[in-house]
Amino acid sequence: MVKVPERTTPFFDYAPAPESRAIVDIKASYGLFIDGEFVDGHGSSFKTINPSSEEVLAEVAEADEADIDLAVRAARRAHSRVWGRMPGSERAKYLFRIARIIQERSRELAVLESIDNGKPIRESRDVDIPVVAAHFFYYAGWADKLSHAGFGTDPKSLGVAGQIIPWNFPLLMLAWKIAPALAAGNTVVLKPAETTPLTALLFAEICQQADLPPGVVNIVTGAGATGRAIVAHPDVDKIAFTGSTDVGKAIARAVAGTKKKVTLELGGKAANIVFDDAPIDEAIEGIVNGIFFNQGHVCCAGSRLLVQESVAEEVLDRLKRRMSTLRVGDPLDKNTDVGAINSAEQLAKIRELSDIGESEGGERWSPACDLPENGFWFPPTLFTGVTQAHRIAREEIFGPVLSTITFRTPAEAVEKANNTPFGLSAGVWTDKGSRILWMANQLRAGVVWANTFNKFDPTSPFGGYKESGYGREGGLPGLAAYLKGSS
Ligand code: NAP
Ligand code: MG
Repeated sequence: MVKVPERTTPFFDYAPAPESRAIVDIKASYGLFIDGEFVDGHGSSFKTINPSSEEVLAEVAEADEADIDLAVRAARRAHSRVWGRMPGSERAKYLFRIARIIQERSRELAVLESIDNGKPIRESRDVDIPVVAAHFFYYAGWADKLSHAGFGTDPKSLGVAGQIIPWNFPLLMLAWKIAPALAAGNTVVLKPAETTPLTALLFAEICQQADLPPGVVNIVTGAGATGRAIVAHPDVDKIAFTGSTDVGKAIARAVAGTKKKVTLELGGKAANIVFDDAPIDEAIEGIVNGIFFNQGHVCCAGSRLLVQESVAEEVLDRLKRRMSTLRVGDPLDKNTDVGAINSAEQLAKIRELSDIGESEGGERWSPACDLPENGFWFPPTLFTGVTQAHRIAREEIFGPVLSTITFRTPAEAVEKANNTPFGLSAGVWTDKGSRILWMANQLRAGVVWANTFNKFDPTSPFGGYKESGYGREGGLPGLAAYLKGSS
């Protein structure tokens, strides 16, 4: 039996170190960004809130079909008259300018992202925004080299791309979509998620600041109906979607038989596999980073811990000690490790699946932690005694909940890791290089991290197998997805 460690009280507690929110200027209401201008939509509006306090941040326009039509027309005009004809070396100048402005305004972007999304400032400041800038720099560098990149001598853009993104990495998902599309000469109509529209709207201001020609980037806020209108619009050449597998399937059905190209980046249930020869201290950090980074709202989260039976007790013991030191709370506090759950709906889903995990026989453990009164919170949670039949071993929880399964042999680890409808990512922790290579060949996952986890780089393609979707973002494959005849 694994013994449950007592909560270890640190010798020195951290004093609060809140990041000031004075740098952001949140307006009372926002319109849609169409054809280079902010305009009132034809539809109604919705509120976006701070999930750590439930404070209403702003009223945001909800784009209806007529608005989407205006946005697509603006994008079409911009493509045929300006952006699609512009030499790549000129497009690159705009992209480099956007990348530099993102760097200059990075603190503002990070604070706004943490306020609207609930993620710790440490992550938005040190991960999200730097990787956003890196994506624009990376694809800016390709814009004038497309004819030397293996796509033929004169590769052509697709035209107008409709792009729909989720709430877990709002600005990063925008960058993954917009940077390659623009570098390849396409124009875009992008819909951010309903709960996190604010950094996309600030990005629209950055496009104005960079003097990007009107209509090249259009930002249309709204919920599922707005997304459906983008997918259904007859003059969109490509749909790029990141989100849940259910909506991804609906989109695949909607565009079947049309001229539209599609890339789908969907859900995951990654195995983080720890062998008995693994560097255990590093593995513990990798497990924690794998599932508690961004509150576990990560498509490639290491949500299934597969640990070799001979070291399971030691790993779980150390993991619990480490989990006891995680600080959950104010996303703007620079000491915070785990922030707020993004929405009441997501919190309800995490609670429901965790309760099911317990009722199906899993043993649930969380460190003692004081959760704030207002806002949406869930403690870091570990399940042991999980079998592959349990729903918490099969379904994406998309929260700070780790399900642990043990194995004896490498073959058993592979079988259990691949026993999922998803195939986005996996992690392998072992001292043996040959085993890493063997595992990487056996695992049906788009990304396999070795002795690390959740590392992202714009040069590295990212995408899934099976129900995790199709198409790749990042690197050269990310460009191919926006060029005729290349994807
Ligand atoms: P979601 O419900 O599928 O929403 C994703 C986006 O699609 C949102 O902008 C959403 O609008 C919109 N949408 C909803 N219904 C639509 C429809 N019928 N037609 C067109 N658009 C529609 O997913 P989510 O719950 O926000 O995001 C979490 C999921 O995303 C997880 O499953 C996660 O694994 C996945 N994800 C995957 C990756 C990846 O790269 N593979 C990355 C991040 C997240 P509203 O938000 O306004 O409803
Ligand atoms: Mg919000």
